[in-house]
Amino acid sequence: MEIDCKVLFVSPEAVPFAKTGGLADVSGSLPKYLKKLGCDVRIVLPFYRMVRELRLPYETIVKVLEVPSKDGILKAEINQVLLDGNVPVYFITYDTFYDRESLYGTSKGDYHDNAERFIFFCRAVLELCLRVNFQPDIIHCNEWQTGLVPAYLKTLYKNDQFFSQTATVYTIHNIAYQGIFEKETFEKTCLPEGVFCDTGIEYYGKINFMKAGIIYSDIINTVSRKYSEEIQTEEYGCGLQNIMKERADILFSVINGVNYNEWNPETDTFITANYNRNNTSGKMLCKQDLLLQFKLPLSLMERPLFGIISRLAEQKGIDLLGETIDRLMAFNVGFVLLGVGEERYQRLFQNFAYRYPERIGVRIAYDNPLAHKIEAGVDIFLMPSRFEPCGLNQIYSLRYGSIPIVRATGGLDDTVKDYEQENGAGNGFKFTEYKTSAFLEKMKEALDIFTNKEVWSQLMQKAMSEDFSWEISAKKYLELYKKAQSRLRLR
Ligand code: ADP
Repeated sequence: MEIDCKVLFVSPEAVPFAKTGGLADVSGSLPKYLKKLGCDVRIVLPFYRMVRELRLPYETIVKVLEVPSKDGILKAEINQVLLDGNVPVYFITYDTFYDRESLYGTSKGDYHDNAERFIFFCRAVLELCLRVNFQPDIIHCNEWQTGLVPAYLKTLYKNDQFFSQTATVYTIHNIAYQGIFEKETFEKTCLPEGVFCDTGIEYYGKINFMKAGIIYSDIINTVSRKYSEEIQTEEYGCGLQNIMKERADILFSVINGVNYNEWNPETDTFITANYNRNNTSGKMLCKQDLLLQFKLPLSLMERPLFGIISRLAEQKGIDLLGETIDRLMAFNVGFVLLGVGEERYQRLFQNFAYRYPERIGVRIAYDNPLAHKIEAGVDIFLMPSRFEPCGLNQIYSLRYGSIPIVRATGGLDDTVKDYEQENGAGNGFKFTEYKTSAFLEKMKEALDIFTNKEVWSQLMQKAMSEDFSWEISAKKYLELYKKAQSRLRLR
């Protein structure tokens, strides 16, 4: 593939515009690195209310984009802004669908018309290409919200010469969210009738956007090697395991990179003292600052401090964590939690903070500066996830010398190597069984090593030397693009 490969990166969210999770971090970073590698990369996003409210210097480049729908032509507008001054971001503007309080729903549930909102988005993406005359070599789609783009390309736009050289790559960031809608929705997609079948978009009598992405793309990938294996099993495949198995020949994995400009204790502006692997003395000041933030006594400076930053969802192993807290407290350690999510978990941890006011700090909030302070201030970072496609916090923790204890699933398994006492190999602690006993055992092992300052410091050195930069992962995506193009030529 020519290095001047034209890539259209399609995502429902991207930093710094709109974010609900790790997908936004990826979508805001990867395109910048593809650009550095020489790609002509452009991003497409919906123009949500929160994007408008950023009041960036948006330029209306298309006043009327005609988007076919079941109800006739709908008229969208295209606004554009440059990311980092050189990556164009196209915003599909259609207020009926996107001028809302949040991205996909409120605490009361998902928006009732999410199917229509993303049917429209997918169709608009292709119409946009035609309109601005951007002929992509690759359309890179992400998550269920973009799953219909490859389906349209292989059906309604199949004979359009404009797209004859366009291949698709589809990235699954989390197979637990598939975009499943009632059969009646199918009509609204305007896809040919034959597509509503077992080998198409149909899924147990309903329609499934992610399945469409998987079936109609030239190449599929997930965000860690382990997760690409897991989603072919009943336990993790969320119903799509057989389709994943059938498509295993085109299923790849690329671990997410992290943005070390933002997450680096050497330059982090949110933390009280900077430090690096050659001089970690600043980390103690960060720990002190963190204790103050949570109004915990400074006597905890002498004791190991555990922490977690997480969506409070079942996926993240919050129930397992809850089951260990009393036992963990018996070791006379400190613990801090930052997170929002399910009510029952919020209450559970607020209750722990109430019961152990001298040792547990809990903040139910979404707070980025505090997330940085926790990464820097804790000694041990916990991620006992039930499943974790990639996970970012454990990777940040490694760089901040906050030793992760993780469950061996998905990206956690790929990025954390269990510590081996005999030879000092490893960069953290890892348990396999989703059981309190397995988790506690690793905590005990970590506490034991922590008491030996010299060994702990060596472990920190190793963790801080790990490198998960985007430079490496972006090159892997280029290889996937190359594969997608050669499959297109075979067709
Ligand atoms: P997921 O995308 O499944 O939520 P990841 O570990 O891939 O999990 O990414 C989570 C991202 O969101 C990280 O950047 C993390 O720091 C951030 N994050 C999660 N919860 C909070 C919170 N309560 N406050 C601040 N940042 C948070």
